[in-house]
Amino acid sequence: MDLSFSAEDEAFRDEIRTWLAEHLVGEFAALKGRGGLGDMDALVPGRIAWEKELAAGGWTCVGWAPEHGGRGLSLFQEVIYAEEYARAQAPGRVGHIGEGLLGPTVIHFGTAEQKARWLPPIVAGTELWCQGYSEPNAGSDLANVQTRAELVEGEWHITGQKVWTSLAEDSDHCFALCRTNADVPKHKGISCLLVPMAQAGIEIVPIKQITGRAEFAEVFFEDARTAADNVVGPVDGGWRVAMGTLAFERGASTLGQQLSFAAELDRIIVVARLTGAARKPLVRDRIAELWTRLNVMRLNALRTLSTHGGGELRREAYITKLYWASWHRDLGELAMDVLGASSAIADPAYEDLHRLFLWTRSDTIYAGTNQIQRNLIAQRALGLPR
Ligand SMILES: Cc1cc2nc3c(=O)[nH]c(=O)nc-3n(C[C@H](O)[C@H](O)[C@H](O)COP(=O)(O)OP(=O)(O)OC[C@H]3O[C@@H](n4cnc5c(N)ncnc54)[C@H](O)[C@@H]3O)c2cc1C
Repeated sequence: MDLSFSAEDEAFRDEIRTWLAEHLVGEFAALKGRGGLGDMDALVPGRIAWEKELAAGGWTCVGWAPEHGGRGLSLFQEVIYAEEYARAQAPGRVGHIGEGLLGPTVIHFGTAEQKARWLPPIVAGTELWCQGYSEPNAGSDLANVQTRAELVEGEWHITGQKVWTSLAEDSDHCFALCRTNADVPKHKGISCLLVPMAQAGIEIVPIKQITGRAEFAEVFFEDARTAADNVVGPVDGGWRVAMGTLAFERGASTLGQQLSFAAELDRIIVVARLTGAARKPLVRDRIAELWTRLNVMRLNALRTLSTHGGGELRREAYITKLYWASWHRDLGELAMDVLGASSAIADPAYEDLHRLFLWTRSDTIYAGTNQIQRNLIAQRALGLPR
């Protein structure tokens, strides 16, 4: 196992670091540190402009193969890219759902025509996507989706409701799991449809969160339409497509986020010194513990990368989501404890720490809850019975 980066990788690090230093200036400087988790609805027009700037430099979809418009980076280089992106405090990507979820899904399951139609605008940063999977009665039990789609004269007619749809208001399209056959076992009657958002049959109702922000929405489909061939994978065969998308969501994309986590921990240490909490032995213990676990997280990421053998991530990758989500939740709790009793007051000086605390509760829910991750580790990584 070799946990070091090669000379070629380090040269790549220099390249992306220099590019970011030269381009994250002028109109884009105000975006620094904005638009991340818990702040996804911030400064969207500026972040769309940034998406196009990245695209012009060839810095979107960097892990995709060149024939799909990417750079074909190795997983190691993708991690370096993520690290340098975080180090530069570059803004949260508005295009991340297209780049990280829908694009890889189309590359894996789509037809040649679908690749030609849907991939270039994601690479160019000109079309944004949202993910219409969850419904009021279909979250962990995703196969229970009830939104119906029926093919009538060359068009799908869609009726139903999605919920927790991140960035729905800003998206051009939604990839939605719909029930296309109610007469078969529930996993076998689902299709993955690509649906334009700007149409009379779609109503988007933002959900105001406990943070006061509205990063997600309920999406109501009332006889919404999409063309007959906007199905990824076979009609009624969408379950396998959905599982593929979720594997992308839980996979490599989060392996490089330790640098932004480290910046959050550093901020908490600064505040702990200010409030005097840093003198308390129990707080010092927790800081040391979180620092240690963060370094374990990075080493695990490097180990996963160095042993993945160039193909699919190995079974060790199953622990990634559970590990980082639990770490981040614990960090949010520490943030409140270093503020002490005053954490109950909404002090603008510590707005970022409050947001961290509130947001990180959700890290253990989306992309598969902690309990579901444990089921996956048991069944798929360890081979235990259901
Ligand atoms: C920040 C955020 C962003 C999101 N963005 C999107 C999005 O863009 N698009 C989208 O489609 N969805 C999105 N979601 C929804 C997310 O996928 C669901 O919240 C998640 O799948 C859990 O489903 P649920 O909320 O219905 O909870 P439920 O599935 O009802 O779970 C409730 C509780 O029961 C536990 N549980 C359920 N089943 C089992 C089991 N078999 N074994 C053990 N425990 C179990 C769960 O762990 C949880 O604790 C987002 C959610 C969050 C928090």
